[in-house]
Amino acid sequence: MQTWEINIKGLVQGVGFRPFIYKHAIERNINGFVSNTSEGVCIQITAQKEMAEEFYRFLASHAPANALITGQSIRIVNKIDFTSFQIRESVGVSKPDLMIPHDIAICNSCLSEIFNENDRRYGYPFTTCLQCGPRYSILTALPYDRCNTTMADLAMCDHCSKEYSDISGLRHHSQTNSCPNCTIPMKWYSKDGIELSSDAAIILQDIKKVLLEGNIVAIKGVGGYLLMCDATNETSIRLLRQKKHRPAKPFALLYPSIERAGEDVFLSPHEINALKSIVAPVVLCRLRETPGTGICHKLIAPGLNRLGVMLPYTALLALVSFAVNIPLVATSGNLSGSPIVYTDEEALLSLTEYADYVLTFDREIVVPQDDSVMQFTANGQKIINRRSRGLAPNYHVNPFDFSGGVVAMGAELKSAFALVDAENLYISQYLGDQQDYGAQISYRHTLGHLTAMLQFNPQLLVVDKHPNYSVTEFGKTWADQIQVPLLEVQHHEAHFAAVLAENKLLTTRQSMMGVVWDGTGYGNDHQIWGGEFFLFDSGYMDRVAHLDYFPWLQGDKMSVEPRLSALSLVLNDKKNLAGALLAFNEQERAFLEKLVTQAPQLLTSSMGRLLDGISSLLGIIHYNSFEGEAAMNLQAMAEKSEDKSLDYYPIPRFKNRLQWTYMVQELLHEKMEGIPVNRIAYKVFVSLAQCIRQTAKEFGVHHIAFSGGVFQNALLVDLVKQIMSEEYQLFFHQQLSCNDECISFGQLAMYAIEQSMVTEKQLLHYQN
Ligand SMILES: [Zn+2]
Ligand SMILES: [Zn+2]
Repeated sequence: MQTWEINIKGLVQGVGFRPFIYKHAIERNINGFVSNTSEGVCIQITAQKEMAEEFYRFLASHAPANALITGQSIRIVNKIDFTSFQIRESVGVSKPDLMIPHDIAICNSCLSEIFNENDRRYGYPFTTCLQCGPRYSILTALPYDRCNTTMADLAMCDHCSKEYSDISGLRHHSQTNSCPNCTIPMKWYSKDGIELSSDAAIILQDIKKVLLEGNIVAIKGVGGYLLMCDATNETSIRLLRQKKHRPAKPFALLYPSIERAGEDVFLSPHEINALKSIVAPVVLCRLRETPGTGICHKLIAPGLNRLGVMLPYTALLALVSFAVNIPLVATSGNLSGSPIVYTDEEALLSLTEYADYVLTFDREIVVPQDDSVMQFTANGQKIINRRSRGLAPNYHVNPFDFSGGVVAMGAELKSAFALVDAENLYISQYLGDQQDYGAQISYRHTLGHLTAMLQFNPQLLVVDKHPNYSVTEFGKTWADQIQVPLLEVQHHEAHFAAVLAENKLLTTRQSMMGVVWDGTGYGNDHQIWGGEFFLFDSGYMDRVAHLDYFPWLQGDKMSVEPRLSALSLVLNDKKNLAGALLAFNEQERAFLEKLVTQAPQLLTSSMGRLLDGISSLLGIIHYNSFEGEAAMNLQAMAEKSEDKSLDYYPIPRFKNRLQWTYMVQELLHEKMEGIPVNRIAYKVFVSLAQCIRQTAKEFGVHHIAFSGGVFQNALLVDLVKQIMSEEYQLFFHQQLSCNDECISFGQLAMYAIEQSMVTEKQLLHYQN
């Protein structure tokens, strides 16, 4: 017999790995110990060679469902005569090098306990087990153990302690264990800050009552506070919109069950799987013609034909949702444009402006996170709209082989940073619009928390080339302070590199075309890019074509007012110019008529603005009350078209410029002729897909990758696939969003391309 040390790396903490090892060691009568370390899990056993090797192989092939192994090793150490097998206290002496456990939605077994009258956790709002519960959001340090979470000060009762040490149970070494006897204290407040109750049963009864009476309630979730109200109550929803200054941005709805959700939306198997997954995201599902639960869908998602649906991801949300048994509006609790509120103090201070009642509890949230949002196209392609709770902060598997730590600061509007430390790659949750001061604080807090936990010191920083991004400025100042080099990366090149890296194509020998379409990004020629075609060949990236430039009118105002984009599109078209000017009042017209005679200071090739402009020219929308509203409404309009033929408007290429003017002129002509707007809108998206096909053909490329926020458009993605997948290989984002949340990852990928530091690491084990 010899003593063997087995080390396992990856996502192996907070997923029931130690109890799993314990159980199987006991079954085999092996003595030794297992502990969480700064690098993952360490096991020592004294056993015969055959037994040790069998155990080693078994651990990798039968790991718990939520675990993810990226590396494992076995070696002989000095012999120790163990007399039993034990789970030892964590040892966290060295610098951490591990994947961080993400938050996991409540599991079925916990759900059945809270609804079983005979169970001791019947109605208990903080029920969790080894397989579910908050992780990243309550983590203060590594490794993952109760003492390193915000539950550290809460002592387990005798019964819970017994469960904690019961090898056969669901809560063996469950770090978030608690029960009605050793409960997390909760408090129920009126909007005046008066404490109404701290008794769970009374509070739940009260919540049900006040929600059904039409009140707005702020409830603490996993990553922050949610504002909730009855989704069938028009007055409540109107009031919430009014108070949040949110006239049209869609709200997500919380349903008690898949069955209830199915009354309002169509659910594909992909969508059901996603809703029931451990991430439990908001899934944007197609709305039924007449929703069955009586929701006020025209107020919840004005003009749109998709609805954000989610299932309860904590026991508390499940109890509330089941009690009312109607869909509830469940939207991030925040001030308009600011990040989600996650502290109790802030909730009582600021959310009482919107909410009639506030429910807090004494489990502090360390890392604020919104709900993740995703959707599936009609043919099943997954599109991530927001990567946050349940998905952040790991990326598996790190494709880069950097010698030192690198931080990429990301983009401004849908910010998220990325960080490579030793073997692991972390990508933060969505951190909002960095023009907002609160979002800047949240960004710095999240970055500070992660770098402190990892004891991380960057050797290099990467920023966007955009001169006015506050995250770029922050990166520059930080690099100066700590005296490390700074690399600047163009925004759309980062997009393309991100989708290449996600598909393991950084070392490909194929010539790749990148189609990068979004709202804005600062271009290498100092113009505003956004409708770009790139080629990537033998490690070199070139911009080979783009939407022909049009004037960037009135700066950032253009992205808020699609009517300005419309005007810009018809500046040289006297006949239609008069029509576009009708969207302005007399005073504005006088100003604009003068403005357009002057040479424009900036030009843009933005696809986002082209779609905005078309939306306005078709009379669909002239103002965006939230980012992407015009493009989303144009898509919704197109999806209503009964005629799904693949006719298209021409977008010919002249040199490297794609001449969209032909399309705009023709569609305005068709509109005048009385062709229905929804048919024209559909034809616009077919034209864009055809334009991609035509450009790929002209450049003789057969491998095409897509990035940029425009590809959140499920209709466009399906049309591209329909028109192109027979002749071309198409690549989309996988774990990341195609919008600017992927920029930080793309910045790392551009650095890797420049340094030729790409590896092809394989995932050793990933169930699910
Ligand atoms: Zn559970
Ligand atoms: Zn207890």
